[in-house]
Amino acid sequence: MSSKIDLDRVEMPKQSPEKRKRNFQEVALGYGPEQAAKEANRCIQCKKPKCVEGCPVGVEIPTFILALREGDMPGAVQALKRKNSLPGICGRVCPQEVQCESRCVLGKKGAPVAIGRLERYVADWDLSTKKCPVCELLPPSGKKVAVVGSGPAGLTCAADLARMGHSVTVFEALHDGGGVLVYGIPEFRLPKNIVRSEIEYVKSLGVKLELDSVVGRQVQIKGLFEEGYDALFLGIGAGAPRFLGVPGENLSGVYSANEYLTRVNLMKAYKFPEYDTPIKKGKKVAVVGGGNVAMDSARSAMRLGADEVHVVYRRGREEMPARLEEVENAMEEGVIFDFLTNPTRFLGDERGMVKSMEVVEMELGEPDASGRRSPRVKKGSEHIVDVDTAVIAVGTVPNPLIASSTPELKTTKWGTLVVDERGRTTMEGVWAGGDITTGGATVISAMGAGKIASADMDLWLRKDGAWDGK
Ligand code: FAD
Ligand code: SF4
Repeated sequence: MSSKIDLDRVEMPKQSPEKRKRNFQEVALGYGPEQAAKEANRCIQCKKPKCVEGCPVGVEIPTFILALREGDMPGAVQALKRKNSLPGICGRVCPQEVQCESRCVLGKKGAPVAIGRLERYVADWDLSTKKCPVCELLPPSGKKVAVVGSGPAGLTCAADLARMGHSVTVFEALHDGGGVLVYGIPEFRLPKNIVRSEIEYVKSLGVKLELDSVVGRQVQIKGLFEEGYDALFLGIGAGAPRFLGVPGENLSGVYSANEYLTRVNLMKAYKFPEYDTPIKKGKKVAVVGGGNVAMDSARSAMRLGADEVHVVYRRGREEMPARLEEVENAMEEGVIFDFLTNPTRFLGDERGMVKSMEVVEMELGEPDASGRRSPRVKKGSEHIVDVDTAVIAVGTVPNPLIASSTPELKTTKWGTLVVDERGRTTMEGVWAGGDITTGGATVISAMGAGKIASADMDLWLRKDGAWDGK
């Protein structure tokens, strides 16, 4: 390693905005070997690495970076996978800028080490070479665990429990595993072959995946215990859409982001008629919201061939919850941002198709409970803008199916499941984690919750812990 630290990180190549805005291929192209080695050399191998404290699953960051720069790629993979079974996914979509990278000491004087890009490089090497042996498994415990939901929370919990020697089956309602990773986040940010390969890795640990299995309908929670499962983890996400509650939202051409992205990602509507799910290819599209979901919807609309895509957000740029990188990508691709603007109704034509929306201008007042300045309407600012497609991306809420069919599970007023700090629900033998307990959050926080629950489940299954959930 050179004694002088380079304060700039190695840039990652991307498709040009002109090219990528009309295709669904991955935008970021990843480091090559020389770029990865150069970036890995920037890490000063801190004795007390702050970056690890910033990672919700505690990845051994300096260890994997050291192995990478010494050319020991299998060692780098193993160091990563000791704590994270889904590194190719995390390397692409984790908000590293507010987690590990925000704690990196190099950030005090220059750019922090590009930990996410290095993680992606190592994970992609593993997936393309398949040279690493499966992580060690403990001897069979004789215990059976059911995990409901195959999103990042469920997959992490399942992988960890399998490594601890338990027999694990994941029940997934949809025909494909991965949760939001397959039906929400688009191909151009997270290729589905990466998600499938990492699910295959989890299966290689012995985890069984039962698709098209809706728990709460085909089988109840109590039924799973009757079938012989000793413990259950609920990682069922918060996938039901939230709407604005304004007139005209039921017009044709107004979609929830959930439906819009599911059609595009899971059902491959952008390949219609090769795939049989259609989607309206709007020419003037408005996406309402300011988070990652809004960015994904707007950038998908652009790729479907829109002339103009507007993100309509009631606060300002500073308040946007979306990842900075994704906002910049959307701007480069030509998405127009209408800040401090909010729709009040949608108007349709004689066939019931949306043709315009009324919006009002907003101004920011005092900070609210979330710490963000609360928007209020500027009087007399309402005006009509033409749109032929609108996508509502203002958040999601949990699907009430399991909670409503299992009275032992307590919920909060937002419909999320009540859990304690170990992930124990109010029902004996049932843990939960991820978006179903927090509301819409992040991939890595869901994985962190799966990890915390799996550790406590293991203790309990081995009878070292009594059940004292609230
Ligand atoms: P989910 O991923 O929602 O998985 C839950 C699974 O449970 C689903 O597969 C569902 O079908 C299944 N399920 C539900 N009910 C049942 C049932 N009754 N029986 C059986 N199965 C059931 N986070 C980031 O960190 N970075 C990003 O860039 C990012 N972008 C996002 C973009 C979009 C469009 C969306 C929607 C979210 C994004 N997020 C992002 C958030 C992140 O994806 C979620 O926080 C995370 O996926 C939550 O994981 P989970 O395992 O709790 O739930
Ligand atoms: Fe390397 Fe930064 Fe972590 Fe230190 S804090 S070990 S420099 S990545």
